[in-house]
Amino acid sequence: MSKGIKIGKCKLCLETKELNFEHIPPRSAFNKDTKYYILDRTEYYQKAKEYTFENLKPKSRKEQGGIGQFSFCFDCNGFLGSNYVRTYKKFAQIAMNIILSNNNNAKAFEFDISDINLLKFLKQITAIFIASNKHSFIESYPELLEFVKNEKSTKLSERFRFYMYLNNEGQNRSGHIHFTNLFGTVCEFTYRPFGFVLSIDNPKRIMQLSEITNFKHYEKIKMVDKLPIILNKYPTYYPFPLDYRTEKELNGRP
Ligand SMILES: [Zn+2]
Repeated sequence: MSKGIKIGKCKLCLETKELNFEHIPPRSAFNKDTKYYILDRTEYYQKAKEYTFENLKPKSRKEQGGIGQFSFCFDCNGFLGSNYVRTYKKFAQIAMNIILSNNNNAKAFEFDISDINLLKFLKQITAIFIASNKHSFIESYPELLEFVKNEKSTKLSERFRFYMYLNNEGQNRSGHIHFTNLFGTVCEFTYRPFGFVLSIDNPKRIMQLSEITNFKHYEKIKMVDKLPIILNKYPTYYPFPLDYRTEKELNGRP
């Protein structure tokens, strides 16, 4: 379903143009017919338990046709589509198959990713974080913009660290920037089968997640035959970043 067009400032080329409705994540990665509600963030945080477990229904209308925003112009949308989106889709399909073909109680999965272009994948994740945040985000971190716009660039400073996990249980997470006491500045985006965390200016590694910052060095490591990765699978019931408590834990049952 088309959501029409809108005039605005593109978050990639920064020109004011007709913007395309950007599916976040890509439409081809299980985001074609997604039905969802748009919730006020404060309201959702305050009533996380009621919304998640007590059947509280949002007052807003149900949206459909895939989650996304008017973030990029048609040219930039086309650039992402021809450079990065297919890689993201391929990895998403592999991960979804692995989750679905295994016992639902499995908590970690190891698999081979040597045939995924990890640099492109990392650039697509970066584009997702840019698309999900306000313009002030790229104004604060213009380096992220350069990393996405130049498909060959492997340059990204150490202040940006990326992590990922698998997910098929709980709610989506928006990718919005959060300033937390425990983890510093983080953005977390969750949409099955993946969850991604971008950690900014935090020298401490986030231990419960698999770090994928080194995907930017893919050009140097791509010659290997096998490239194993281990990803944990976490539920995301509440909208708080890095909160992976299970349904049982949240409801106070042992
Ligand atoms: Zn643009």
